[in-house]
Amino acid sequence: MTTALITGITGQDGAYLSQLLLGKGYRVVGLLRRSASADVVGERLRWLGIIDDVELIDGNLTDLSSLIRIMETVRPDEIYNLAAQSFVAASWQQPLLTGNVTGIGAVNVLEAARIVQSKARFYQASSSEMYGLIQQPVQNENTPFYPRSPYAVAKLYAHWMTVNYRESFGMHASSGILFNHESPLRGIEFVTRKVTDGVARIKLGLAKELPLGNLDATRDWGHARDYVRAMHLMLQQDTPDDYVVATGRTTSIRDLCRIAFSYADLNYEDHVVTNPAFLRPAEVEVLLGDASKAKRVLGWEAETTLESMVAEMVDADLARHRNRATI
Ligand code: NDP
Ligand code: GDP
Repeated sequence: MTTALITGITGQDGAYLSQLLLGKGYRVVGLLRRSASADVVGERLRWLGIIDDVELIDGNLTDLSSLIRIMETVRPDEIYNLAAQSFVAASWQQPLLTGNVTGIGAVNVLEAARIVQSKARFYQASSSEMYGLIQQPVQNENTPFYPRSPYAVAKLYAHWMTVNYRESFGMHASSGILFNHESPLRGIEFVTRKVTDGVARIKLGLAKELPLGNLDATRDWGHARDYVRAMHLMLQQDTPDDYVVATGRTTSIRDLCRIAFSYADLNYEDHVVTNPAFLRPAEVEVLLGDASKAKRVLGWEAETTLESMVAEMVDADLARHRNRATI
């Protein structure tokens, strides 16, 4: 039985990746950071109905000794490093924590693997945010990076350290440069989920307005369930490498609002207001990925359209609010 260790198992991607790997017969072990609110931890795994099928083990990305102990206990064949302070906007408020977790934390996992389990295959969750102030209209693996936030700078460090461990120590370390991917399990602070949750609340009469920041930025949005397939495929290759994972379509926040509100028979212009509090010190205006390498080498392609993903998210948020209202 193949054993996978997932850091960030309680996050969006960790939950979908666990579901994928369990379906393939893996033993799935997740690193869990201690929380005083243990009752709500694992909510996403519970939502997918797999909380009892994964093993959770105590540790923290900033604590190398915990990672070494976990490697020794678990002896993973595959390591997926998904843990991070992952919210760009928060990274200006907590740049050092973001550097410690998102940047150094990844190297802690690489080090623990190198010391204890160097033959394990390693996946690093790199990000399209590394392209930042885009240097080419469509971004692929050869596009120069220009990070625009403390989050993106930390991710870039972790990305190059993954490349460096591959080249220096011969580790099977791969990096997925994933463009934005969403789902009903996306954190509520990210714009897609904020919009679908807002649509649900407005539709049910629980709110009238949805305050947002920059409506003109565009993102290449895919579905997390599709994107975790790419992570797994990368670790099944004989040779480790880096891959862009994207849909090849970019949509503005404004058009996202149009799609989400009209799905619920609402007009976004009646409800969306702009609030400067949600503007960022430096913006990533456009992201658009070219995933032709992932298609050619991995046989991977995005399968979910933005429209069907938004419909799934609005339906899930409507159900959440309806259930709450009846309690
Ligand atoms: P989430 O924010 O949903 O999940 C982050 C996970 O990291 C959570 O499980 C969180 O635990 C965990 N974590 C945070 N800090 C620590 C720590 N110090 N020690 C251990 N665990 C920690 O992210 P996603 O699932 O959306 O994304 C997965 C990864 O992919 C992240 O690295 C993200 O930056 C990256 N990425 C995501 C993209 C996207 O569009 N979703 C795009 C490109 C890259 P807890 O539940 O306790 O908070
Ligand atoms: P990111 O690409 O990882 O930063 O993902 P987000 O979903 O947080 O943001 C995507 C884009 O939406 C960025 O360009 C934001 O500036 C823009 N945006 C506009 N309004 C909001 C908002 O209210 N919240 C968030 N999170 N983003 C917003």
